[in-house]
Amino acid sequence: MLVNFFASLIRWSKSNQSSVFRSNQVAYSLFIAFFAILMAAPAKAARLESWRFNASQNQLEITTDAGVQPKAQLVSDPTRLVIDLPGIVLGRPVINEALSGTVRSMRIGQFDRDTTRIVIELAPGYTLEPSQIKFRGISDRRWLIKLPTPQLASTSTPAVVAVPQSPTPSRLNDSELAAIESVELNGSSNQLMIQANKPIRYSSRWDRSLAAYRIEISPAQLGKSVKGPELGAGSPISRIKLRQENSQTVAVLVHPATGVQLGQMNQPSQQLVTLQIQRARLLQSVNTASNTVSNTASPRVMPVFNPAMATTQVPRSPNGRLLVIIDPGHGGPDPGAIGINGLQEKGIVLDIGTQVAVSLQRQGIQALLTRADDRDLGLEPRVQMAEQSNATVFVSIHANSISLSRPDISGLETYYYDSGLGLAKTIHQNVLQLTGVGDRGVRKARFYVLRKTSMPSVLVEVGFVTGRDDASRLSNSAYRTQMADAIARGILQYLQQAARL
Ligand SMILES: [Zn+2]
Repeated sequence: MLVNFFASLIRWSKSNQSSVFRSNQVAYSLFIAFFAILMAAPAKAARLESWRFNASQNQLEITTDAGVQPKAQLVSDPTRLVIDLPGIVLGRPVINEALSGTVRSMRIGQFDRDTTRIVIELAPGYTLEPSQIKFRGISDRRWLIKLPTPQLASTSTPAVVAVPQSPTPSRLNDSELAAIESVELNGSSNQLMIQANKPIRYSSRWDRSLAAYRIEISPAQLGKSVKGPELGAGSPISRIKLRQENSQTVAVLVHPATGVQLGQMNQPSQQLVTLQIQRARLLQSVNTASNTVSNTASPRVMPVFNPAMATTQVPRSPNGRLLVIIDPGHGGPDPGAIGINGLQEKGIVLDIGTQVAVSLQRQGIQALLTRADDRDLGLEPRVQMAEQSNATVFVSIHANSISLSRPDISGLETYYYDSGLGLAKTIHQNVLQLTGVGDRGVRKARFYVLRKTSMPSVLVEVGFVTGRDDASRLSNSAYRTQMADAIARGILQYLQQAARL
């Protein structure tokens, strides 16, 4: 197995040691505060599959279900090797393994939304010779990290140390690789089908940097004549890219069309991988079952109205008919703000937004949700939906946050831009009256969804998930219903006033 190291410099000089140390302390508090994110991480994110620290050999072995390029640094007091796995979601609470001897413990946690962090800590007074830390990539998803025997720290610390990175995946003969023979869209089954001539494995996740759904197939190469599917005007996929990611991994990057939801991946046979594709449906039925927001689980899917919009599917507001767009913020891999006890903005605002829509609908006002489930939705499609449907008003619903160290800050803020002032005031007043939430004012702000919508639009920050008062109330479903009713009443009042003018 071939190993190739690239050196990356780690500063460990005396002069900046304390700043490295401090920033790491900050990192740790974030890591503890944010580990709750991992509980709601998308099922499709790449995962840390296994890890094992072999104390007799001072060797850590990790396996991920997609390729990863670890990053490592050595931090002092006590000495610890910090290994970050970008693009990897741990999917469980912090793991803390006590070890005996000079390597004292190993911790694994979610450092940020898509980075898993492993920390190997030495007993006090011991250190590692950084140049002797060996990273070995068995493949791009399996790594061995071999530590040298810890030494008692001397008074002098090395000024600059190199930590090796980046593997060359072990090579298979071309004859062992599967060839991807076709990537096709099956219209009748609504599936993307990836066919190979030999057994393959796959992993998949949202690639945030490319705004695409990434399917990685291995061990495989792209067949010579293989092209992606023909994508017509009405295709549920707007773009698809096939590329050879490394010597034995093919990546299929899928950009779904607006309003299209990607579903389950399946492997019906060893040589076939499929991805379910669902067009957003326009649903008339209103499900008013009470929704729960837990700190850990994704909110229940409540398909109330058309969650998104292919151009032809958006019901246009007929002459004189009012149409309200309700826009619950964030969703999918983006949890929004994270507050006390891991309370997540995306679940709260989905529940409230859904109830606002239901409430308006009951009162004869047509309402559309930009998202009706826990999905990833950018800002642009939210605005597009409002514009294409010729909406009367647009109401975005968010929850606020400040530092977890400021639980004293709670309250309602309603934002507008341009023509939304009247709507903002009316909603704000109603919410203050009906919920008793603290008043942090009606404010003007250049938020994208406010600037880019041509109808009166507002953004309601229903409360602070980091605020002691707001967090406890927003965790309560009866309070969320109260909040939703208040927002709906404000919208109705505004529409009635506007109609009289
Ligand atoms: Zn938000």
